[in-house]
Amino acid sequence: MIVLEDVDKWYGKNFQVLKSCSLTVSPGEVVVICGPSGSGKSTLIKCVNGLEPVQGGHISVKDMEVTGPRTKLPKLRSHVGMVFQHFDLFPHMTVTENICIGQTRVLGRTQAEAEAKAAALLERVGMSDHARKYPIQLSGGQQQRIAIARALAMDPIAMLFDEPTSALDPEMITEVLDVMVELAKEGMTMMVVTHEMGFARKVADRVVFMDGGEVVEDTPKDEFFASPKSQRAVEFLSKIL
Ligand code: ADP
Ligand code: MG
Repeated sequence: MIVLEDVDKWYGKNFQVLKSCSLTVSPGEVVVICGPSGSGKSTLIKCVNGLEPVQGGHISVKDMEVTGPRTKLPKLRSHVGMVFQHFDLFPHMTVTENICIGQTRVLGRTQAEAEAKAAALLERVGMSDHARKYPIQLSGGQQQRIAIARALAMDPIAMLFDEPTSALDPEMITEVLDVMVELAKEGMTMMVVTHEMGFARKVADRVVFMDGGEVVEDTPKDEFFASPKSQRAVEFLSKIL
């Protein structure tokens, strides 16, 4: 579903942030990406939906070439859902309006269709009572669940998450992870940057460990936790577990 082949990326002339990164995510797979701060995780995930250009290698999502000259980025992004650390909901729109806007503007659904879909998704993320509120009236965990619902409203073929719980107070982390666990169990293809190793243990198929712009390990979950191959991953795990 998602293929990265020898991806090189530079910020400016002197700093190579991604070094020949290769990674494949099959349909229905959940891949957790972890690694020290500054290792290139956010950059990698942004490259997958074309938010950052790359200077070498190839990226494709399903049959869509991300890095080629014929790339249609709006089409790509309408098919790949993305949830960031900061929920970035539209502040001047209600919850329902946030979930409907992409459906009507990009997918051409009628307002009634979009609202029906929004209602179903709000139910799914446990937020039905909040449909008419504005983002500022919600807690961080609630906003993040709305951000996930908004992404799902586009019927994405894959979902990218970049540290979706790291800006949340501890008591709100679980409510967001629960939604993500359900999504994983339903078979969504997911790339998830997170340090929530409980989540990784529960639903990840593989764990990718990055350090210094490189994919240092790409290992089945159980193997990664039982016996990481690289010393760098051992050190990293000893700090966060
Ligand atoms: P991570 O998500 O693993 O913490 P990032 O992908 O955010 O890592 O950043 C990797 C490195 O690239 C860091 O050293 C960061 O300072 C640098 N970096 C990130 N974004 C930019 C940018 N837009 N311009 C220049 N350097 C950047
Ligand atoms: Mg990051």
